[in-house]
Amino acid sequence: MRTRRVVGLGLLFISMVLVGSFLAPAVAEPSPERVVAIVPLGEVRQEFLDKVQQELQSRMKVRIRIDPARELPQEAWYAPRSRWRADRILEWLDANPPPEGAWKVVAVTEAEISATKGNILDWGIAGLGIVGGPNCVVSAHIYKKHSKTQEALLRRLGDLAVHEFGHTLGFPHCEEKGCVMADAKGKAISSADASSGRYCAKCLGALPAEERALVK
Ligand SMILES: [Zn+2]
Ligand SMILES: [Zn+2]
Repeated sequence: MRTRRVVGLGLLFISMVLVGSFLAPAVAEPSPERVVAIVPLGEVRQEFLDKVQQELQSRMKVRIRIDPARELPQEAWYAPRSRWRADRILEWLDANPPPEGAWKVVAVTEAEISATKGNILDWGIAGLGIVGGPNCVVSAHIYKKHSKTQEALLRRLGDLAVHEFGHTLGFPHCEEKGCVMADAKGKAISSADASSGRYCAKCLGALPAEERALVK
């Protein structure tokens, strides 16, 4: 008898919980959904694109989408060094309509890229992002050349993507130990290996509330 009553109360409780969950108001979704488009430039291995997508998705509450590949823009070709100017790639992305619905663009390439650094006219770089800009570019070239294992290559590339994307979020370089926004100071490999892969509390604290809410 006593047992039966306990069971009866249990069922009543379960049915109340079920009714409660049906009546609960739907949680407001942030709208419209923000989308980051990963745009492969030239031929890019799928595993590189997947890694960039996975790393960005693990840090951001927005949708990270891989778009169809595009050709590298001819105007970015730097014949004297047979490589591509990253600054011109970003200008080209700026000048053309952004991919459908994209909030920001992360261009990924295996091609060698460069930019002007101080008084060095053409300096080989791993990636480039303008602080607060709409897009950034990352290249697997340096990591392909200098990584002994595929695992190291992918880890470094993922870290670089988080770094360059961080510039587009508005982060400048950061002095905090292990912060992914550390200045590589021309050393793409050792910088990626010293990074925790995370935006530090100081970086995140500088974001406006609306943007902060988009970072995990
Ligand atoms: Zn940087
Ligand atoms: Zn930081």
